[in-house]
Amino acid sequence: MASTSKKSVTEDLSNVEFETSEDVEVVPTFQSMKLREELLRGIYAYGFEKPSAIQQRSILPIVKGRDVIAQAQSGTGKTATFSIAILEKLDTALRETQVLCLSPTRELAVQIQKVILALGDFMNVQCHACIGGTNLGEDIRKLDYGQHVVSGTPGRVFDMIKRRVLRTRAIKMLVLDEADEMLNKGFKEQIYDVYRYLPPATQVCLISATLPHEILEMTSKFMTDPIRILVKRDELTLEGIKQFFVAVEREEWKFDTLCDLYDTLTITQAVIFCNTKRKVDWLTEKMREANFTVSSMHGDMPQKERDEIMKEFRSGQTRVLITTDVWARGIDVQQVSLVINYDLPNNRELYIHRIGRSGRFGRKGVGINFVKSDDIRILRDIEQYYSTQIDEMPMNVADLV
Ligand code: ADP
Repeated sequence: MASTSKKSVTEDLSNVEFETSEDVEVVPTFQSMKLREELLRGIYAYGFEKPSAIQQRSILPIVKGRDVIAQAQSGTGKTATFSIAILEKLDTALRETQVLCLSPTRELAVQIQKVILALGDFMNVQCHACIGGTNLGEDIRKLDYGQHVVSGTPGRVFDMIKRRVLRTRAIKMLVLDEADEMLNKGFKEQIYDVYRYLPPATQVCLISATLPHEILEMTSKFMTDPIRILVKRDELTLEGIKQFFVAVEREEWKFDTLCDLYDTLTITQAVIFCNTKRKVDWLTEKMREANFTVSSMHGDMPQKERDEIMKEFRSGQTRVLITTDVWARGIDVQQVSLVINYDLPNNRELYIHRIGRSGRFGRKGVGINFVKSDDIRILRDIEQYYSTQIDEMPMNVADLV
């Protein structure tokens, strides 16, 4: 009997429909959000004129101290959403860490730090990127000095907390960017390790373009009456990102297809995804042997080299980047208009994140999938799951980027 009742509890949970909370207010301008003046100045100076849909709905609930689950399509301004809310809530007179923001990759943690510093340009804000692969002493020195906001990756952040260099007693908000990834198997334990050190009343905000049901289910364990702003999965792909496939009979043909596309890749900037670091190295090597200029990045490279490659790609000095899923989530380079899945991603969520590296904030984008015959089934599944359309690549694809 006991086991039956346990089972029915599980079933009940999985039947819960998650929807956007009814009481979400839409605030049409930054002005009407009544933000502090130095922040408003920072927002306009950064070039924002009008808040995006997610910003109109989520900034104020976060500012008001509610636990918030915010989902929106890739490139629609989620980072800026929580960055603005964080800045509004800070007490800059108190040089203690008040907000902790965790992300799955070092590059993303640094990007968030930069956005916070830029938007907070007139606020005298201290924001530190606390990430692995960097000098420990430097990290300790910066934290000792006092940082209002820490944007980091879980491993290094936890290390700093255990050493008592990152003091948690003044923390009032935890932001998990790419929350579904952060609560996935690989990271969940580490997040929990950090969470245990935070004051019990800490506000929690979860942000992502993808929030699968099983993730939403577990939020009740560490969130209190959260405001939810969610996107139905048939509205998750962006109109502006056209999706195509190229059918190849054999793996070897992918390489020739890529070479044929090279001129299209360099019209603006392109990101090519492979599923393993080894394959990234292999493809990079092979492209270079064929005299194509490409750069590449993955998680086995020293951080200094990763930084250098990011810098070159962000500045447009390099145009074609071959990489792994270390680049799939969150990275914002507005000039990227083409994404190639040399290998199909291993899950549906990664597909959305990868193609979302293009088409930032309403720009045009193209996603091209290289598929072998047994991959077609997977692509059709993705197409159906998101109620989207993935057609065979047309001859004039270069006109679309
Ligand atoms: P997301 O986190 O949803 O993927 P980002 O916050 O990285 O999206 O925003 C994508 C791009 O759009 C960034 O380059 C950002 O500077 C820009 N952006 C965000 N909000 C606005 C806005 N309100 N007005 C203009 N540009 C914006």
